[in-house]
Amino acid sequence: MLKSPVYLDYNSTTPVDERVLDVMFPYFTTKFGNAASKTHSYGWIAEDAIKQAREQIANLINAEEEEIIFTSGATEAINLALKGVYDIYKVKGNHIITVTTEHSAVLDTCKTLEKKGAVITYLSVDREGMIDIQELKNAITAQTILISVMYANNETGVTQQMRPIAELAHEKGIIFMSDATQAVGKIRVDVIEDGIDLLCLSAHKIYGPKGVGALYVRRKNPKVRLASQIDGGGHERGLRSGTLNVPGIVGLGKACEIAGTEMWDDAKRISTLRTQLEHAFIDNLGNVFVNGSQKYRIPNVTNLSFQGVKADTLITALKDIALATGSACSSASMEPSHVLKAMGLSDELSYSSIRFSLGKYTSEEEIVYAISKISEAILNLRKINL
Ligand SMILES: *Cc1c(COP(=O)(O)O)cnc(C)c1O
Repeated sequence: MLKSPVYLDYNSTTPVDERVLDVMFPYFTTKFGNAASKTHSYGWIAEDAIKQAREQIANLINAEEEEIIFTSGATEAINLALKGVYDIYKVKGNHIITVTTEHSAVLDTCKTLEKKGAVITYLSVDREGMIDIQELKNAITAQTILISVMYANNETGVTQQMRPIAELAHEKGIIFMSDATQAVGKIRVDVIEDGIDLLCLSAHKIYGPKGVGALYVRRKNPKVRLASQIDGGGHERGLRSGTLNVPGIVGLGKACEIAGTEMWDDAKRISTLRTQLEHAFIDNLGNVFVNGSQKYRIPNVTNLSFQGVKADTLITALKDIALATGSACSSASMEPSHVLKAMGLSDELSYSSIRFSLGKYTSEEEIVYAISKISEAILNLRKINL
């Protein structure tokens, strides 16, 4: 029996891996200590668990333990990175470069910074969703303090080349930040090789719990300084006060450890299923287009336009398949996706687009079922629209 509805929205969130849940449990009950309590073993046990999680996360992205700051998720990590850099470095310059296709957590934080006097350049992307490194180079001024480019796009899965951006940034003494929420745990992410100075990640996109994430902050070459955005007890080296979410952090650590050993096999299997899905629609339905680079993308996503069909009508018709048009954050609004628009899609094709995001629990049976149900619905809707 298939689990119903079939879940094809792993980019919005993932179920918690049972092994992650198992290691979290004791930290709610018997090992409930506050990691900041230095005077008894309850505190020390929690502190040891936090240290281990820091190592597990650092290992996955080739960072050092001391470079990991725990947050309530990627959104908070992004806010801390952007606002934290701006507050410290605005004496040096007020210019930030980012991309039109970023997640709303980046775009909305940039809007707030604009109100505070920041000048933001939003780089365009081509039809494939890729930035132009020459355009980036031309955008840099003497006032530029930060370049923020996401690793993998949440709507299309398109990945940007990190290394060339990092080289440009570092030549000019500019900090390079990346929202890697959709890349970590799915593809190789290496803060040394990629040259990333600030990196954001989230547990619930990689089979960990919701409400916990981390910010990687480079400590040398260059050492990045940040202004804290939450004040209090001085936790996390003064950068993020507040009692640590010990069970959540333990879960994030375990999720990273599992991804480190299993993501390559998972990626192979998941991308095979994605290919099966794409080909079935493209070959059998006609007028189906893949949005974004097929060369540079994470293995679990495909964003498809089905010409002549409204995506929201299609999704409503498919009650037993959990799908999204774009990001969970914007699918409440009826605006066409800002990501697809930036890639030059017409409004009509944008409204005809669906994001399929698969995960490690996606089975071939589910994909076969989804192909048959979706194909049937599309043929019906196209008939009605004739
Ligand atoms: C989900 C997501 C976020 C937000 O992460 P939360 O942990 O839910 O705050 C930010 N950026 C990208 C690319 C995402 O996919």
